[in-house]
Amino acid sequence: MFKSLWIKFLVLLLLVSLIALSSAFMLRELMIKDFRKFQEGEMEDKVYRVMIDIEGSYEKNFRWNNDLIIRDTVLALMQGLEIKIKDTNDTVVIDTEKALNTVTPLMKQKIMAITDFKNADRSENFEPYQLFHKGKEIGTLEVKFLKHKKEDIFIKRTNKFLFVSLLALGGVAILLSIIFSSRLTKPIKKLASAAKQISEGNLKSRVKSTGNDEIGKLSESFNIMAKSLELQESLRRRLISNTAHELRTPLSAMRGELEGIIDGLLPMNKEQIQSLYEETGRLKNILDGIEELTQAQISSLTLKKQLIEIKPFLKNIIERFNKSFLDKGVSIKLESDEKLIINADPDRLSQIVINLLSNALKATKKGGSVLIKTGAQDSETFLEIKDTGCGIKEEHLPYIFERFYRLSDDGLGLGLAIVKELVEAHSWRIEAKSIFDKGSTFTLYITD
Ligand code: ADP
Repeated sequence: MFKSLWIKFLVLLLLVSLIALSSAFMLRELMIKDFRKFQEGEMEDKVYRVMIDIEGSYEKNFRWNNDLIIRDTVLALMQGLEIKIKDTNDTVVIDTEKALNTVTPLMKQKIMAITDFKNADRSENFEPYQLFHKGKEIGTLEVKFLKHKKEDIFIKRTNKFLFVSLLALGGVAILLSIIFSSRLTKPIKKLASAAKQISEGNLKSRVKSTGNDEIGKLSESFNIMAKSLELQESLRRRLISNTAHELRTPLSAMRGELEGIIDGLLPMNKEQIQSLYEETGRLKNILDGIEELTQAQISSLTLKKQLIEIKPFLKNIIERFNKSFLDKGVSIKLESDEKLIINADPDRLSQIVINLLSNALKATKKGGSVLIKTGAQDSETFLEIKDTGCGIKEEHLPYIFERFYRLSDDGLGLGLAIVKELVEAHSWRIEAKSIFDKGSTFTLYITD
């Protein structure tokens, strides 16, 4: 219904203002009611005082003395009472109007100024009170309460106050809704435009994070998401271009050989076919490696973690490698605590260890050694694979976990990239240290 945010704000603020004003109005009504009740009580007291005065005036002469009751009538008027005094025959002895006509014009003017007699309603809403002297009825006092000027002023003032408040609150509500909605919508609009840019392919688009509130956090999350999308996209592009590059070499070799055969430059014999067959093997290895990497990338979703006794687990892997180590003349040793248990996916963990171990074997010459060591450090368990191989030059070390990064022609440069994906899938971390020509140490930090 309310499309724009500022209208929603306006409606909300107006509602709040209206509630506040209605409470003020209700309070005012209650106050007026109380005020009237109080006044009525006061009036009753005044009536009794006036009655006492009139009865006292009668007592002085045992009959109605005009001068005295005129004074009583005028005094009653000054207290807000219009009165009529009737004798026992129901004849009006004096009333306020007559009493006023007997006073001097100046006096009358003064009395009028403090009473509201001029504006009093002319109805005959008089209330009768019996007048007595020594238990004998001497007449009737009829009283009409004049509306108090102060009450009128109070009601008028509160009405004015409420009207001005309504206008002021309405104005403030409009102003606040414009300010708030623009403050709120500005970053949302920026977010929407950045999201649009990303959907159009501009992954560099970011928003300025504003404050620590929900919108600020949303902006931060948006930026993190955009950064991760950008990274993923660059990785995807790099993977595609690296893959294409890797595939191009064996494919070009195959094409060259096939062209040579077609042109009659190369013989079409068993050796040539064998060579072509080997190239297809290289192609297959590349594709297998990419598949393995892709599997490793999604492995965080399919991890089957279980508690593993690390020593027998590693022993088992070493036994499978024993022959290769023996053949190359490299020794392998395991130093592990008997009771060490970790929580890991056994298939992925063995893939990590096998990749690191085969790299260590590849890098180590005859007579060298490889040590697998486990232990606990602070709250972490570590698994270290240390070799006395060729080592890695410092300038290459930061890149060895990247896809297709390799330092020799032997291999695809995917092994450590796969290791990294599997390690991250477990939320572990891996560190590589190396001294060129001396050896390398790969340390896996395992947390639960
Ligand atoms: P690959 O799958 O080709 O073995 P990796 O990603 O496993 O590639 O390793 C990347 C590069 O890092 C390798 O080309 C290798 O030269 C170097 N490397 C890896 N492990 C070691 C090691 N233990 N000692 C020396 N160099 C290593």
